[in-house]
Amino acid sequence: MADVAEVTIIGGGPIGLFGYYCAGLNRRSVQLLERLDRVGGQLEHLYPEKPIYDVGGYPKITGHDLVEQLKQQAFQYDGRVRTGIVAQQLDPLHEGYRIHTNRGLYESPVVIVTAGIGEFIPRRMNIPAIDQYEGRGLYYVVNQLSDFDNQRVLVVGGGDSAADWALAIADRAKSVTMIHRREGFQCHADSLIKLRSHGSVSLIPLRALRAVVGTHAVEAVLLQEASGTPLEEPLEVDRIIVAIGLIPGTQLFTEWGLTMAGNEILVATDMSTNRPGVYAAGDIAKYPGKVKLMAAGFGEVATAVEAACRYLDS
Ligand SMILES: Cc1cc2nc3c(=O)[nH]c(=O)nc-3n(C[C@H](O)[C@H](O)[C@H](O)COP(=O)(O)OP(=O)(O)OC[C@H]3O[C@@H](n4cnc5c(N)ncnc54)[C@H](O)[C@@H]3O)c2cc1C
Repeated sequence: MADVAEVTIIGGGPIGLFGYYCAGLNRRSVQLLERLDRVGGQLEHLYPEKPIYDVGGYPKITGHDLVEQLKQQAFQYDGRVRTGIVAQQLDPLHEGYRIHTNRGLYESPVVIVTAGIGEFIPRRMNIPAIDQYEGRGLYYVVNQLSDFDNQRVLVVGGGDSAADWALAIADRAKSVTMIHRREGFQCHADSLIKLRSHGSVSLIPLRALRAVVGTHAVEAVLLQEASGTPLEEPLEVDRIIVAIGLIPGTQLFTEWGLTMAGNEILVATDMSTNRPGVYAAGDIAKYPGKVKLMAAGFGEVATAVEAACRYLDS
């Protein structure tokens, strides 16, 4: 026997949670499937304590607190929320779809895919023996900002995540050095201005990590120029945050007969995919001009639910 609802949402990240709310607002029966043990997506699992500044209405809120707000907003409506459920296969029915999971079947006329980047697999440094320092000063995921209190920290990466981490710890760390192998840092202009003007932060472009030094834990790093020329002088640090991106794990959706653009699902302006009744929103959705920010994703999933309601009514 399958669990049935009018709308099935696949992925309980921020965008899936807001989609659940939108479905409730339209008084549609809804079920949300999340592969991990709790909802919240990247916010809950990758940066619960990091402040977020660019969600409308919240000048500053942590990842965890935003998830709590989204849950409160969504779960005012009754529905089915299932965690530990991996959506694996999508089969068409006479009307709608059957979703095969690791634990049972789910059916609905409408499916909204908000599966983000799939699994959360941080891109790792390709440096021999570096992994021995994980849990001993090397971080790919930061769960507690207090780990960096009064520490000398190296942040590797030049994008928004790296800049966000550098800013989040700048006031509590002894020093923050942010290196990037390219000439320019690609984070928001405001982050760059704040980092440049912070007394504890040094930004060094055209530098890459060559090796980590330390007997039991991180004690120093060796760097190299972007050209590959090694720098002899070690840089003494106690902590390293590697923020060079995540490896998308969304290939599964190709097998669902969905048209992909690389790792993302191609959508039309109403967030519909090439399969009738299947929509996508959030990090997994792709269209010209796409911006991978929650602010954009919330709008996308609201659009998807509105389009889904019209589809259900027709
Ligand atoms: C370090 C860092 C800092 C960031 N800071 C900001 C910021 O300040 N502001 C901002 O706007 N954005 C920020 N982002 C980006 C933001 O987190 C994402 O845009 C957002 O999480 C996308 O939400 P989503 O719901 O689409 O996907 P996700 O958050 O990735 O959630 C998708 C969910 O779907 C689940 N799932 C995947 N596959 C399946 C499956 N087959 N079956 C069931 N469930 C599945 C996953 O487990 C996950 O919980 C940051 C990202 C990182 C990594």
